Amino acid sequence: MSPQILQFLYLFSAIFFIWGLKSLGSPKTARRGMHMAEIGMLLAIVGTLFHHEIVTYKWIICALVLGSAIGASISIWIPMTAVPQRTAISHAGGALAACLVGVSEYYTHGEHLGMVTMAIIGVEVMLGSLTFTGSIMAATKLQGLIRGVPITYRGQNVFNIGLLGVMISIVVILVFSPGLTSLFYLLAALSLLFGFLLVLPIGAADMPVVIAMLNAYAGLTDAAMGFMILNRIQIITGSLDGSSGLILSVLMCKAMNRPLRNVIFGAFGKISQDASSETDSRKKPIREAAVDDVSIILENARSVVFVPGYGMAVSQAQHRVRELADTLKALNVTVRYAIHPVAGRMPGHMNVLLAEANVPYDELYDMDQINPYFPETDAVIIVGANDVVNPAAKRNPGSPIYGMPIIDAEKAKCVIVCKRSLAPGFAGIDNELYYNENTLMFFGDAKESMQKLTTEMKKLQGAHA
Ligand code: NDP
Repeated sequence: MSPQILQFLYLFSAIFFIWGLKSLGSPKTARRGMHMAEIGMLLAIVGTLFHHEIVTYKWIICALVLGSAIGASISIWIPMTAVPQRTAISHAGGALAACLVGVSEYYTHGEHLGMVTMAIIGVEVMLGSLTFTGSIMAATKLQGLIRGVPITYRGQNVFNIGLLGVMISIVVILVFSPGLTSLFYLLAALSLLFGFLLVLPIGAADMPVVIAMLNAYAGLTDAAMGFMILNRIQIITGSLDGSSGLILSVLMCKAMNRPLRNVIFGAFGKISQDASSETDSRKKPIREAAVDDVSIILENARSVVFVPGYGMAVSQAQHRVRELADTLKALNVTVRYAIHPVAGRMPGHMNVLLAEANVPYDELYDMDQINPYFPETDAVIIVGANDVVNPAAKRNPGSPIYGMPIIDAEKAKCVIVCKRSLAPGFAGIDNELYYNENTLMFFGDAKESMQKLTTEMKKLQGAHA
């Protein structure tokens, strides 16, 4: 293939990537955006396969077969609820690959590397290594293999910033003396340690921001690799990944009311929760409701807001939720959906699920849009959400979620909480909302509960007809 055709393929690939990213900005066009990005990736791979510098296809074919098998298995068997962990693992894999390319380049050229190339390799290996271990740590926390509580120790930030300073100094020394091989491998080792230490102090509730930040680091590593191997599409995709990851981090920080510097330097989300208030709230009585009680409330309601959360994703209740909403609408009830930016386990998680169930977009309200409606809302149905409606975020300065804006469900006339038990959510903390006088606990699996309610409401609808 002539170099011009290769460049054309890369150009079209870049266009599809940018188009895809743009389309991901709205739930209406997000599905199309994913297809655009897939085409972009296909063009990039096909173009690269025709690269004139390829000597043999043997190992490339092995990698293609192995990579495709892993990719297909992931898409078939990993559930939607595990997508954040899966994403973290993808970041780890991408960062490790870029880091290893940097190491092999150093191994091959070592002391003969020019200053610019050495600087790029240094940054690539540093970012790649820390993203690798950081992402593995994040995936382990998200999977619950280690506890989500922040692990902190005295002088943690000073130590981390000092370590970062040492790593940057090593990169600078290597730029002037690329032949210092042991220093290069020390850089890789320290960066691996740094990634681990960076995510260690971050609490479970702040994981969404960390995932977005690691996404940005992985993108920057890829872009550095693109500069090193002079591959334009790698530079473009790495920069897109890096910048969109950074923008997402900023948006998530705003949504969670966390300063970005805390994410970059870690050591935030520390739990200093007032344990006594938790114990006290556990002693308070709750009001449990059966399906008949809830259906009577809904029959008399004129406005209902659904607040979906992670539990809706676990039980795949989105279709049942829409059916219940349709039944309520047939009874002239105004229905809205409240979407918290970090509900579920990935950005836009609730939008994706509700779009899959064909919920009309104009019924979806962002947190800031829906909150003023609650005082005039007759009933809120919380479907498997917990942290995103926890008033501790507003009232308990010791809580790990303190400061995170929440959905003000408690202000509605009646709050119906649909979950299986009083178990805490992702942040691992009790929810005082469950003990409020206007809250009814409707225990059960979200899908089954929505089904039961719909059946009951349909009976009432028939009786009215
Ligand atoms: P939470 O994790 O706070 O709560 C989910 C609740 O769902 C649980 O309390 C659980 O209670 C209930 N549940 C689980 N399975 C079912 C089921 N089958 N039927 C009914 N209920 C069920 O979810 P939220 O969406 O409120 O909050 C998201 C949390 O995740 C936040 O802390 C956020 O920071 C974090 N996070 C978000 C990410 C993102 O990008 N969106 C990424 C990573 C973390 P029970 O067991 O009693 O049923």
